[in-house]
Amino acid sequence: MSQNNLKASEVHPDFIFTEFDRLMHLDINDLLQGREHFEDTYCPACHRRDTPKAFTYQQLDYRRCQGCGLLYISPAPSEEQHLEFVRYSRAMAFWRQSQPEEMKAARKPMYEERAAFTLETFRTFNITAQSVLEVGAGNGEFAEELAARRPNMNIVLLEPQELDLQASGIEIITGGFDALERAERKFDAVIAWELIEHILEPDNLLRLVRGALKPGAPLLLSTPNERSVETRKLKTESSNILFDHVRLYNPVAIQELLARNGFRIISLSTPGQLDVQRIKAYRNVNPEAFADDPALNLILDSPKSCDDYQIFLQTHQLSSHMRVIAIADGEWNGSPTPRM
Ligand SMILES: [Zn+2]
Repeated sequence: MSQNNLKASEVHPDFIFTEFDRLMHLDINDLLQGREHFEDTYCPACHRRDTPKAFTYQQLDYRRCQGCGLLYISPAPSEEQHLEFVRYSRAMAFWRQSQPEEMKAARKPMYEERAAFTLETFRTFNITAQSVLEVGAGNGEFAEELAARRPNMNIVLLEPQELDLQASGIEIITGGFDALERAERKFDAVIAWELIEHILEPDNLLRLVRGALKPGAPLLLSTPNERSVETRKLKTESSNILFDHVRLYNPVAIQELLARNGFRIISLSTPGQLDVQRIKAYRNVNPEAFADDPALNLILDSPKSCDDYQIFLQTHQLSSHMRVIAIADGEWNGSPTPRM
């Protein structure tokens, strides 16, 4: 693949997307080769057993818990298969190498906002955060933003992929969750952006996070909110419905999951700003999906009502992303997800 050796600045962004999709298709096919080892489970969030099949998408079956409403892929790849996928994905490696500077620049405001939100959370809840652990740090962009704002903060990243970060103050643990357990470290906060939706056994993750938190220290997490107007309207066209989003939470499901694992939620919000924009973009391409929805069309047709509608979605926890802040001051009653 000579094209892979081109410098990012010489490559058209359309090529990046096309090539990423092609490689991801190969990755997914490899993953599906191991499907006899996939595991079919009851609800990973609330452990109830009333979990009928909802639909099949991209050769993967989805179940919907009738208790907490969790939508999840089942049968799903095992933890080992999933970790292997993340480690050896050609698409993800290509993305890391080839992402043009302009795409990185376009994502920078997102990480800036997350860093500002994190520091605001520490202020609001009076947390002196000298050491912070980020789990699932991706390319480390958030950590770099945080380090730029708090040069004295000890920021530790746990990431299965090798990372090449130059910023000072950032320490990297390369490995899976077992590496975190072995490290036996305690932090003033643990942060997990867009991670828990990828995790097959969330109780195990939360057990390890508990072990890494000093008493009273918070866990900050974000995850897609499946109980959102955008996701329900766009269905499988929503970016939330993705082969490696194996568990799609909603405010009830995440609350039940955290409570079983001894976490108390002190803040849950859906601060997304792009739902209405995405619904409108979807309507431009798929007007037929809105033919039987004249009321929604009325809202979307006016810029002012669109702005107000976005605020309404945020206010009523109907935006497509959740942010949760939780303290682990209860008992841990976690256990593996019940198998079928
Ligand atoms: Zn459930």
